[in-house]
Parts: sequence; C-alpha cells; structure tokens
Amino acid sequence: MITFTNLSGASEIGSHSYLVEIDDTRIVLDAGMHPKKEGNAAKPQYELIGERSPDAIFVTHSHLDHIGTLPVVQEKYPQAEVYMTNGTFVIGSAMLHNSVNVMTSKRTQDGIVEYPFYTHSQLDDVSREWIARDYKQNFRLGKKDGVLASLHDAGHILGSCGVRLESPSGKSIFYTGDVQFNPQSLIPGADFPTSDIDILVMECTHGATPTDTSYTREKELLRLAKAIRETLAINGIVLIPVFALGKSQELLYEIEQFRKKGLIPNVPIHFGGLSTKVTLLYDKLADTTPRRLPGYRLRESIDISSLPRKNKKPLVASPGNIYLVSSGMMSEHTASNKIAAQVLPRKQDSILFVGYSDPDSPAGWLKEAKAGESVRLKEKGGQTYPYNCRTERFSFSGHASRNALLDYACRLKPSTIMLVHGDPAASAWMKSTLEEMLPDSQIIIPEPGQSYNIS
Ligand SMILES: [Zn+2]
Ligand SMILES: [Zn+2]
Repeated sequence: MITFTNLSGASEIGSHSYLVEIDDTRIVLDAGMHPKKEGNAAKPQYELIGERSPDAIFVTHSHLDHIGTLPVVQEKYPQAEVYMTNGTFVIGSAMLHNSVNVMTSKRTQDGIVEYPFYTHSQLDDVSREWIARDYKQNFRLGKKDGVLASLHDAGHILGSCGVRLESPSGKSIFYTGDVQFNPQSLIPGADFPTSDIDILVMECTHGATPTDTSYTREKELLRLAKAIRETLAINGIVLIPVFALGKSQELLYEIEQFRKKGLIPNVPIHFGGLSTKVTLLYDKLADTTPRRLPGYRLRESIDISSLPRKNKKPLVASPGNIYLVSSGMMSEHTASNKIAAQVLPRKQDSILFVGYSDPDSPAGWLKEAKAGESVRLKEKGGQTYPYNCRTERFSFSGHASRNALLDYACRLKPSTIMLVHGDPAASAWMKSTLEEMLPDSQIIIPEPGQSYNIS
C-alpha cells in the first residue's frame, strides 16, 4: 500500500513537501518554504506527519521552495535520514544560511516574531546529518531496508534531482522535483528513468502556457543580445533582474559569450551578493557535477564588476553598463529593486525580464503596466515611478514545457499521476489533457492537507 499526502501550506501550493508512505516506511519529499508568505504560513503542514518520525527526507534541489524549511522538519524529527545530491548539499547550505539573514532582517523590519525559523549554528548542526548521494546510485532505506531509492539528474539547476522509490513488492514511484529536459547553457537536460514507473509525481509549472514550437534557445539568446546592444548603443543602463541561483550563472555565461562574439560591446557587467556566492559554488563543483563544459569556471573566465556591499554605499547605476542582479522579481530591498527605481523613468534604459515573476511582485506589477503609467516598487505605499524605459521579456526557463511533460508522462504510462507545483490553471489543463491521452491512468491533483491511497 502506498499513501501520498500533500503537506503543502494550507491554502496554496508553494511550500513544497509531500509524505509518501510505502507499507510502514515513511518518506518526506522536499521541505520547502513559501516564497511569498511570511512566518508560520510559509511552512508546510508538518503537523500532518504526526508523532511517528519519517524514516527519510529527500531534498530535490536547493531552491528555497524545496529546501527552505529543511532545518525545521529535521529539528522535529532528528532520527530521519536526509538525502540529496552533493550539489544540493553545497549550494543548499549557502542558500539556507542566506535565508537566516533574510529572516533575521524581516524580524527586525517587519516584526515577524517566528523568524528566524533556525539560527546559523542550528543549521550547521543539522546539516552535518545530511547524506549526499550520486545520481543513479541505488541505496536502501526504511524498515528492514525494504525501500530501494535512487536520485536522477533533473536538469533544473546544479545538483537538482528526481527521486525514485521502489517498494518491497516492486511498485515504483518517481517524483520529478523541478525538471528541465532540454540542456541549459551550463548544465545538461534531465536524465530521468524512461520505464518501470507506476506512480509519477510530476511538476507542471508551465501547464497553462502553450508550448511555442518555433522556440529555440539560440534564437532567444540572439534577441536578448540585440536588446542589450540597442540599449548600450544609446548609452542606456541594462537591468536584467535574475534569481541568484541558476538563472544568474546561466545568463552570466551567455552575456560573456555575447561580449566574446562581438554581439555586444565590452562594457562592465555588474553582479553581486548571493549570486556571486552561488557562482563560486558552481565553480567549485565544476569537475564533479554534470556540465556541458566540464571544468569551465565562470569566475576565472569572466571579468565582472562587483556591486557595493549591502548598505556600505548607495547603489547608483552607471549609463552604458549591464546590471545582472537579483532578485528576479525585483523584491523590495534587493539590488534589482533599487536599480529599477533609477531606470524606470529613463527612456534610454532597459529592463529585460528573463524569467518568471509572481503577478504580485514589483516585476509582476511592471509587466502588467503600460508605458507612460506610474509604477510602484514597494509592497505598501512608497513612491511611484513614471514607466518610460524599455522593457522586454525573454524565456529561458529552468522548467520543462508542458509538451515535454506530456511526452514524458506518455512514455512512462504510469497507472497514477499526481500533478504538483502548478497553479490551478496549470494543473487543470494538465489533468484534462492527460486524461485524454492516457485514459487508463488515474490523474490526481493532490489537495494541500489531503492523503491519497494508491493501490
Ligand atoms: Zn526550482
Ligand atoms: Zn520549485
């Protein structure tokens, strides 16, 4: 008997965590923190796990929506073994230490008394218990070592994996985590099992986005190079808001290629904060993780200008320069938010979006606004800015297109598919499409807080 419980936060998906029970072995998949909620509302519903400790916790990758509350669940269940790849081990630790700092400043600034959920030293203690596993290495866990487990490269960010679990009776469950099947600039695409999966737990981030079959990464990169070139030609500032982990490193590499190929002039690229820290870790792992350019190190190869350290000097953007800075959603108190305030009113400058933004974030508000309108950059009140600059959107997703997800599901033909990590429109489209394509499979959108008995 396999039972699947969605532990995600009560009302909404975003703090990803699932409990899988295979006979009497209990396994938690991911331990996320909601990117938009604060305090206890950002945690998964760990109380649903109950008194009996899980045997194991798996973390698929080091984005906070998958790892952000790992120390919280570890504190509650110290006996549980914690598995991840070495890439997630190294980068996850840096992301969680950074999260302690962010939570601590939110406690001071916004009075959120539950923060920080854990301290730096508590994190050091629990991370000593983490166990790193290589991709495609089988290992046993649980009661009488009954469950066979393995991790498989998910192609999403460095170290990302999907998790395969097999019950003593040979039934298998595969959780994709976040997946990209196509290669990105630095990392190859996913290398997932292609047969013998009975239950597929699949992300469906892009379920509501029709797949553009004419899209190629190469064409999209040329379009980005053109927008940068045109802005620099009139001495404008180029602001590219990026997530510190994943997109920053991929784009830094590509902008360097633009400079090398003469597609853009050799102007300073400004970069800093958590992005720099993560880039050094990408470099550290250059020889030991799947790479498209084995051994290639970004910091050895690329001349970058570091941003002033936080709160040391005001962040003033210089005309004719490129700012590849976090956060990707231009959240308050971040470098991209501060530079956006300077760039928005100026006609010759550009904000180039290269990834997803929550509709309820400064980047999301700007995407919805029309040129000439006033735009705000703060959650509550604050100044508004005339929107005169150029904006353009590009797609360099770390998530699979919905067509690629459908292809994968159809190849496996599992008897059950659980759809996770999608907004309601995305999950609904995937469910109805999969029901048509795989009439013999049961397709489930697991509700937060609900348990499902599967076979
Ligand atoms: Zn992710
Ligand atoms: Zn995610």
